[in-house]
Amino acid sequence: MSSKRCYYESLGVARGCAGDELRKAYRREALKHHPDRNQGDAAAEAKFKEINEAYQVLSDDEKRRIYDQFGHAGLEGGGGPGGFDGITDVFSHMQDLFTEMFSGSMGFGGGARPRRGGDLRIQQRLNLRDAAFGCKREVSVRAPAPCGDCQGSGAKAGTKAEACPQCRGAGQVSNARGFVMFTSTCPRCHGAGRVVRHACTTCGGQGAVERARKVNVTFPAGIDAGQRLRVPGQGQAGPNGATSGDLYVEVDVEGDARFERDGADLVTRVHVPFTDAALGAEVPVPAMEPQEDTTHLSLSLPPGTQSGAVFTMKGHGIPRLDGRGRGSLVVVVQVEVPTALSARARELLSELDAELKGEATSTRRVAGEK
Ligand SMILES: [Zn+2]
Ligand SMILES: [Zn+2]
Repeated sequence: MSSKRCYYESLGVARGCAGDELRKAYRREALKHHPDRNQGDAAAEAKFKEINEAYQVLSDDEKRRIYDQFGHAGLEGGGGPGGFDGITDVFSHMQDLFTEMFSGSMGFGGGARPRRGGDLRIQQRLNLRDAAFGCKREVSVRAPAPCGDCQGSGAKAGTKAEACPQCRGAGQVSNARGFVMFTSTCPRCHGAGRVVRHACTTCGGQGAVERARKVNVTFPAGIDAGQRLRVPGQGQAGPNGATSGDLYVEVDVEGDARFERDGADLVTRVHVPFTDAALGAEVPVPAMEPQEDTTHLSLSLPPGTQSGAVFTMKGHGIPRLDGRGRGSLVVVVQVEVPTALSARARELLSELDAELKGEATSTRRVAGEK
């Protein structure tokens, strides 16, 4: 036992160092040589035992006094630390220290509480016009907010939340099984580290209440269904005044009876009498323009327009999100054949029929003679 390393050396501290410094050194060394992080490394295991023994002695004022005066020999009698034969034993000695270590002061374990509030997601339905030209909307966001009556503590007025007795405020509990130390969320406080004996009546001890708040969201011109807007800082409030999360607004766009949207293009159908199609005409077509009262535009149909013909009116579609102008209004022509004919209309059509057939025949003849 005389070949034992000096306890101060084991922990890498100076003789006469303060308790605080000793504690820090122990934590640092214990973490470095912890068996969980050095699986199967016998040297690390020996070192781990060594620093634990050193700490057991130096953190005890009485033992430290004896050690300072007589060295290892002074502790080898009945007053010695002893009992460090099995590492399991070491764990049981250190339980409290590790619990404390995992409480977040070292940035481990219990420090898992988020440093930033969570993100929130909502859906917002827009009509096609608002999606096309952009709009501002006041949306309602429901999210837990700190309870005003207990300032988020969950404790009834006049009482306080107490450190959880099971995990001693760490939020996590550690259990040693042989060489392995298991750390799990405390079952009593579910990781909060605090328990409330007398629950706040407003929030039922949760410390938070569901609250709706209004957020102004600007939807840019050209936004489409399935796209998501991020509104920074409008998510859940961060714990203890930390940064809030973001709000994500998923956009849904209502169908419009007059148009189909195809990216930045608008597709519309226009029914024209066959006479207009044959003779050519100016026809009104449904349109969506920034000026709300402009519901139609005029399209010049050339003579002989066929059913199914497509006309593209550039610049009359939906504004592009990137600001590079507007898409097109695509007009699909559907030629309508009249169904209910007056006697006069029937007479005229028959005449037209004869005329067209004659013309067609003569055309064919000409073509045939060629
Ligand atoms: Zn607990
Ligand atoms: Zn409350």
